Amino acid sequence: MKTLLIANWKMHYGPIKAGGWIRAFRRERLPKDVDIAVAVPHVSLAAARSSLGRASIPALCAQDVFWADDGAFTGEISASMLTEFGVQYCLVGHSERRIHLGETDDMVAKKAAALQKAGIIPVICVGETEQQQKRGEALKVLRQQTAAAISQLAANSKTPFAFAYEPVWAIGTGKACPAQKAKEAHELIRGVMAKKIGETAAQQVRILYGGSVDVHNIVDYMTTTGVNGALVGGASLDPRVFGLLCRTAIPS
Ligand code: PEP
Repeated sequence: MKTLLIANWKMHYGPIKAGGWIRAFRRERLPKDVDIAVAVPHVSLAAARSSLGRASIPALCAQDVFWADDGAFTGEISASMLTEFGVQYCLVGHSERRIHLGETDDMVAKKAAALQKAGIIPVICVGETEQQQKRGEALKVLRQQTAAAISQLAANSKTPFAFAYEPVWAIGTGKACPAQKAKEAHELIRGVMAKKIGETAAQQVRILYGGSVDVHNIVDYMTTTGVNGALVGGASLDPRVFGLLCRTAIPS
């Protein structure tokens, strides 16, 4: 399966800076045989799309979506609206949204299902907090978040979905999760999926690792069985650093 690397700008870069990032990243030498996407704030999707022109690398990823198709949901954005920008991926359930906006497993499940219906690949973020880890609840939390997130996906959909295992204690802290530990979490997520969609289908779902990934540790993850890519926050804000990270992840 093709590795997927996603740059997550989080709440950085409005339309003016977004265009500059895309143009600078397009000048980077990039590995072949890898999927690369950039998760941009909604307000910057149009600028990112116009800076890309006809180019498809990096693919556009949205950072969130609402589950209804249209209606009285002031401030929200639907999956069909995202398709108008040629968005191919969308994050759902990022821990920053779970923590700061109270997103629940049920909301995440509805969002993932809405994306799949619109033909956008949901990248479902799951991961335990530091407290949950300390209480020995990490595996229970992962099991619950994973099962809930896929509970509303259609079995016969042609649109794939992906997971990102992001231990909350590793995000933006510089305390990356050891690759071996990430492997165990990925195995658990895949195991939960296998129960619902079958072993063969579960093997085809990409599970990314996210949490303080940088140019120094990316190879550890990329050489770990069951890790199929990375979701990169801080180390993606500079397009040249993210370009280097892509080349380091997949040496040519
Ligand atoms: C993220 O934004 O999802 C993330 C993993 O951030 P960072 O790489 O900065 O830890």
